[in-house]
Amino acid sequence: MKIRVGVNGFGTIGKRVADAVARQPDLELVGVAKTRPTFEARRAVDRGYPLYLAGDTPPEKFTAVGLPVAGRLSDLLAKVDVVVDATPEDIGRENRPLYEAAGVRAVYQGGEEADVAEGSFSALANYEASRGKRSLRVVSCNTTGIARAASVVIPRWGVRHWEVTLVRRAADPGDSKRGPIDGIVPTLQIPSHHGPDAQTVLPDLSITTAAVVVPTTLMHVHVNHVTLERAPSGSAEMLAAFRATPRFHLFAGWEGVDGTPQVMEFARDRAGPAGAPGPDLMENVLWEKGLRVEGREAYFFQAIHQESIVVPENIDAIRALVNVTDGPTSIARTDQALGLAPGGPPAPVRAPAASPRP
Ligand code: NAD
Repeated sequence: MKIRVGVNGFGTIGKRVADAVARQPDLELVGVAKTRPTFEARRAVDRGYPLYLAGDTPPEKFTAVGLPVAGRLSDLLAKVDVVVDATPEDIGRENRPLYEAAGVRAVYQGGEEADVAEGSFSALANYEASRGKRSLRVVSCNTTGIARAASVVIPRWGVRHWEVTLVRRAADPGDSKRGPIDGIVPTLQIPSHHGPDAQTVLPDLSITTAAVVVPTTLMHVHVNHVTLERAPSGSAEMLAAFRATPRFHLFAGWEGVDGTPQVMEFARDRAGPAGAPGPDLMENVLWEKGLRVEGREAYFFQAIHQESIVVPENIDAIRALVNVTDGPTSIARTDQALGLAPGGPPAPVRAPAASPRP
């Protein structure tokens, strides 16, 4: 029996989660819900994903431009075990009563406040504690990056205190309305919200975060300084731990990856003919030359592809909610299907049967 999944909100995150659901051997993408007949609605139809109407948009708005409609959001909710809400910030909370009334489990995104769900989630950090809940919030892209890295460091060496300076992208590549397009804009609130957000999945983590926004769309970059409880033997020991953990990609010095332009060029190159996982990069990206350990002090950079890093965690959150398997098994299954497992080619997309586009 596959877990039946619907995705409400088909933008930057929603369309990627829908594609990822369609690749999983144990999940079925029942449909996606949209409010407006945009190019992304056409993409859903082209991929064979049944399209449902969110909100009160008349179906004629879609059918008049040749986009078949399978029903309303309520019809989709009646057919699924889990809904992934990938609507803009705060809309997930507005949608929550709909999900509760339909009796479906729900995954929310990091733009929502933590109390929208029974728990906040990051697969490497707290999968086991999240199993069997009715709702989970996958923490934001930056917080996912921090939580993954902390999940490597904490069990091995302990963390006395973690400091992160986040260099944040101004907008996503498809977003023409946000900035800055010049200048560096500090987030004056210290700590930025990322530190407290990381504590929603790792409550005992002592962490201080500060953030600046810069005019780029490609990725975020974190500058980390961690004071450890116990000293590793050196940088090599810490690098080996990151290398051995799923969802980390390390670049060696000889690869000539100076910064995020080459990182995303790598992602575009890696995108196979099967169409996944690129041009995305769902792993935390570390530079081997950019990690240094001095006694109990560790320093490293990591780059975070904001558009895709939370996608594997959304898939694991679905399995945690339904409580079908343990964390390591879910992570391995997700990554294998997405082509993230070392050497593993991505699985083909299994689109549900849909009426052909007129
Ligand atoms: P987006 O604007 O790209 O996509 C949201 C989609 O939801 C759009 O297609 C929009 O038309 C649709 N929508 C709006 N109102 C709706 C409604 N009432 N019902 C159904 N659909 C509706 O936004 P996004 O970047 O995908 O962000 C979604 C969530 O993911 C937010 O909580 C955000 O904070 C979080 N998130 C975003 C990023 C990122 O970098 N983009 C990273 C991690 C988490």
